[in-house]
Amino acid sequence: SPADIAERTAVKKSNLFYQSRARRPEVERAEGIYIHGKNGERYIDGSSGAMVSNIGHSNPNVLKAMKAQMDSATFAYRLHFENAPAENLATEIANRMPEGLNKVFFVSGGSEAVESCVKFARQWAVAAGQDKRWKVISRFPSYHGSTLGALALTGYGPLKDAFAPLFKDMPKIPAPTCYQDQDNLSDEQRGLKYAEMLRDEIIAQGPETVLAFAMEPVGGASTGALVAPDSYYTRVREICDEFGVLLIMDEVMSGVGRTGTFMASEHWNVRPDLVAVSKGFAAGYAPLGAMIADENMVETVLDAGGFAHGHTYAGNPLACSAGLAVLAEIDRLDLMANTRAMGDLLMTGLNDLKDRYAFIGDVRGKGLLTAFEMVSDCETMAPLPKDLNAYDRFVEICYERKLITYSRRTHGGIDGDHFLVCPPMIVTETQVNDILNILDDSLGVFAR
Ligand code: PMP
Repeated sequence: SPADIAERTAVKKSNLFYQSRARRPEVERAEGIYIHGKNGERYIDGSSGAMVSNIGHSNPNVLKAMKAQMDSATFAYRLHFENAPAENLATEIANRMPEGLNKVFFVSGGSEAVESCVKFARQWAVAAGQDKRWKVISRFPSYHGSTLGALALTGYGPLKDAFAPLFKDMPKIPAPTCYQDQDNLSDEQRGLKYAEMLRDEIIAQGPETVLAFAMEPVGGASTGALVAPDSYYTRVREICDEFGVLLIMDEVMSGVGRTGTFMASEHWNVRPDLVAVSKGFAAGYAPLGAMIADENMVETVLDAGGFAHGHTYAGNPLACSAGLAVLAEIDRLDLMANTRAMGDLLMTGLNDLKDRYAFIGDVRGKGLLTAFEMVSDCETMAPLPKDLNAYDRFVEICYERKLITYSRRTHGGIDGDHFLVCPPMIVTETQVNDILNILDDSLGVFAR
């Protein structure tokens, strides 16, 4: 069509490119849970970007803190200077973490945080006299980032297969996609069944060679808010302890309040050895991530000569001032309580949609990390035909109705089209209902 041709021409002329030819409206301003386009249209940021803008856009207190920081120092290289925002932010994080999980290594994003955990784990093993340990078991499907090291852990073919020659892939076990299982097991038994797969894999790999197990406590992009039965989490920790395998929690998406607790792993009272955070940490106000590490492990590595790793922008004062202000706003506005309450409301509404639309096979999540999955048969969980492109099509239908959602087609277990509905943690009851109404309308259109 002429519009398509005009769009292609515009893309060709632009010096900018991202992942595809798709061109989106230009953002003019963003405020609260809304993003305003240049032509005056207003979108609901129903997935907080990629589950990033946790406290909403243009929060005045965060902007004020960042502006104040800009007036003093925006950057001071960490090998040359420490800075107060980084020091204070590390303290604030440590105060919210389980006992002993209190050493913070700053980075600028999620992939960097995950790779820092892996590299740190390896250096710790060497320093602790366990240098045969290097394998990091992760899950399929999963998403741990797009840089080459993180891709080795990522279990998501479409984003990694083309690059396979460039990195050493790591062993994978199935993610606990219990909602697809056709057996007669109880929830508890299913959780244990999937946890035992970790035990089997550690034994198959040779326990003395296994360094760590990495998992998202609540799944994100690749699994659509996958939550395992309670028994899974405790058993995974036990198995790691049995073999001296480190537990790395990738809380890049689930951390910093998004599931209604500071870290998602708190829901199950599981203490990891290393944690990766980013996204909601500075909530889109600045690129910021961190590895949070066990203090004894840090002592061991530093005693043995130091952590041979780092990134230029690590812990820069501007990003850390944003992170500090974000944590203060989460407390001041009691956003974790709001997340739990609004998450319940959203979940109830999504379940109601599930009852009314035969092609919604599952609704899942924790707090405001929430998703639903479309299938062609709710009994068998058989997916919709691939060429229907449901995950793309439904997002476009919502987009036309000014609601942003985040979708993927799961690859692994039984494929399925899932949609993350994850508004900022400041969302109100009225706004949750607005989101549900647009989803209802969009599902009606999709059903046709
Ligand atoms: N881990 C998880 C669980 C994620 O969701 C993401 C981002 N979607 C990453 C790692 C990678 O983060 P980044 O894109 O900031 O590198």
